[in-house]
Amino acid sequence: MTMQANLLKKLEKARTEIFLKEPFLGYVLQQLDIVFTEKVSTAATDGLKIYFNHEYFKKLDGEQLKFILLHELMHVVLHHPSRMKGKEKQRFNIACDIVANDLLFHYGYTLKGMNVIYGKQFGISGVTQTAESIYRMLKGKVKTIVIHYSDLIITDHTETSANRIKSVVSQAIENGYNPDPHILKKRVLNINETKKKQRWTHLLHKYMKQKENDYNFDRTDHRYQDVLLPHYSSQNLVLNQAWFVVDVSGSISDEMLQTSYRAIRQTLQNVPNSDCEISFFSSEVTNPVKLCSLSKLKETFKSIKTTYGTNFKKIFEAMPTFYKGMLPSAVVIITDGRGYFPEKELALNVPVIWLITGNKKAPFGDSYALRV
Ligand SMILES: [Zn+2]
Repeated sequence: MTMQANLLKKLEKARTEIFLKEPFLGYVLQQLDIVFTEKVSTAATDGLKIYFNHEYFKKLDGEQLKFILLHELMHVVLHHPSRMKGKEKQRFNIACDIVANDLLFHYGYTLKGMNVIYGKQFGISGVTQTAESIYRMLKGKVKTIVIHYSDLIITDHTETSANRIKSVVSQAIENGYNPDPHILKKRVLNINETKKKQRWTHLLHKYMKQKENDYNFDRTDHRYQDVLLPHYSSQNLVLNQAWFVVDVSGSISDEMLQTSYRAIRQTLQNVPNSDCEISFFSSEVTNPVKLCSLSKLKETFKSIKTTYGTNFKKIFEAMPTFYKGMLPSAVVIITDGRGYFPEKELALNVPVIWLITGNKKAPFGDSYALRV
């Protein structure tokens, strides 16, 4: 194996481990370029790319590399380089490092065998305080910090980089990879203003119902706890009888199928204990299958058979047969929009949400442009 291949293998291993443990940060990391350069002496970021000095990178062991990647990643998702504008660089860099490291310590990461700067050294908490407030607190104290390097790079493109990262973060969240709800989410969302953006799952909100008040002992699946949207969980809402119908006709790409899968998974995660069913359609519509778990969802996607032709009419023609006596509370159709749209009347007053990946808008119901 060449030296270069070895380095890439080490990097890939670290990235995979981060993705498995911190899916949100891992997702963002996958979208970033990692550059080897002699222009930095250790590691650094301009808010869009992560730079490593070759020799420095080689010396890091697996755990150290993970910590450094996560550290730079914190600078990226919290837009530290673009927030540096108009401030004393060294002091702000230290403030940002305190935030990054304290958050990582809080998440249980440590950096063995290397000197790091952290809040406790100054009686500061990087977990509860912002980089700006720490920056103010550090006034006059910086000179006492002997060993410190700068790892935040400001370029002419810093603003553009920040915007690019905002959209990567929004994508991550839309895909169901949410930042830790207690600390990081608040920080990231404040910066990204993602809250203001209408998410398609908000459309579903109209069709949710208060969960009946008969207490049962169903165990909540704590694995998904971190992706609960507070306003859903606090009100204990569920989605009753939603029918997902996924376009699997010949024009649908694998990426599109992935997007469909993620959209449904997001719903199941955000609105647990809901009663949802799934069908696939191309020239025919398959029998609805109950989505009792995420593994069931995965299983249904594995059994997809594609045929040609997209006629949305088929969905509405099949609906009364599939749902005799009780029509679904909402139909969510995920499609590229290439096909014939039926008359509104065929929907039998059942609300229809179209998640369309193309630029089309359905003639009735709610349309939402889904990004692939
Ligand atoms: Zn740093």
